[in-house]
Amino acid sequence: VHPIYAAMGETVFEAMSALCRDGSRINLGQGFPDDNGPPELRAAAARALEQRSNQYPPMAGVPELRAALADFYRRHQGLDLAPDSYVVTSGATEALTAAILAVVRPGDEVLLFAPTYDLYAPMVRRAGAIPVFVRLSPPLWRYERAQIEAAITPRTAAMIVNDPLNPTGSVASAEELADLAALCAAHDLVAICDEVWEGVRFDGIGHRSLLDQTGMAGRTIKIGSAGKLFGLTGWKLGWLCASPELAGVLGRVHQFLTFTTMPATQYAVAEGLARDDVLSRQHAGWARTRTAMLRLLDEAGFAVLPAPATWFTCVDLAASGIALDDAAFSRRAVHEGGVATIPLSAFSVDGELTGVVRLCHCKDESVLAEGVRRLAAVR
Ligand code: PMP
Ligand code: GLN
Repeated sequence: VHPIYAAMGETVFEAMSALCRDGSRINLGQGFPDDNGPPELRAAAARALEQRSNQYPPMAGVPELRAALADFYRRHQGLDLAPDSYVVTSGATEALTAAILAVVRPGDEVLLFAPTYDLYAPMVRRAGAIPVFVRLSPPLWRYERAQIEAAITPRTAAMIVNDPLNPTGSVASAEELADLAALCAAHDLVAICDEVWEGVRFDGIGHRSLLDQTGMAGRTIKIGSAGKLFGLTGWKLGWLCASPELAGVLGRVHQFLTFTTMPATQYAVAEGLARDDVLSRQHAGWARTRTAMLRLLDEAGFAVLPAPATWFTCVDLAASGIALDDAAFSRRAVHEGGVATIPLSAFSVDGELTGVVRLCHCKDESVLAEGVRRLAAVR
């Protein structure tokens, strides 16, 4: 086997969820809601399963979904892109893999920002390229232009930007996006923009895509996921968005990764993207449970870092009076307290330890209350 995989363990997301599947523990680890997703989309998928083709759909996605994506991003983010700018994939996970394989050559350097989503570095390495990490610092996790520029070399081919950022829940400012775009243009870099959390923002914060910045249209691959937009993580329905030329190349990678994606979920998501009522109901539910989580953690004496987006809250252990590193606290929480969390070291360079754990807050308030009670008992 390839040495990358020989040396690799199971992800902490799966390890934590596996410990919770028998119902004996509370899962505030892996990011997923504890409801079953919007009934309108489940009904639409059931209808499509019965009434529409279950054979291979068009390789780049059913026309209804590509048109719905173009309409959705035009209305919500002002992106003026035709349906042939979109390629439907089996989750953002496949989209990220396709993007990396499409633009990265052996020997290239790829800028990653840490905390970094766990698939980026292994996939960049598997493509024969070298990840170069730029560390973002708490509490605001800002992109510092000078620091990024210092990491760029003549071999740098691309950067992967996850905005909003999992695990921190932070959002890049307009100035930071402009800086990232200027750096990409000045150094001729492709930006792979993992924007799966674009719909999960709170406190009135909007979403701007790097794709929409000056000079970025031809060099940006924007990635989205119905899993996060609708709270249907098991559907694994995602998409790539790029200039039609770049989208054509991405389609050629996709055709040899999965070729197509289940048609019934594509038709259902196409309907869902036009349903602002469904999207805002989902969002209102997540805003409610987030508020509940912040209150519960505060009442229990946990200090949190600011997180205006995502389904996650990050607890600062030292500021909470806990003298353990993140891995030790997560282990104690799951084995002694019966509550799963994600140590932020799952997202750090080479797994180096941190003093922060991530909690998922899109759960019923009673689940959050019991989870926080258990965390408080092992602190
Ligand atoms: N990127 C980020 C930053 C994510 O948080 C996730 C899902 N947790 C993904 C990609 C993968 O999305 P999908 O489930 O659609 O493959
Ligand atoms: N992205 C999800 C999270 O951050 C997990 C997805 C996965 O298990 N790879 O919790």
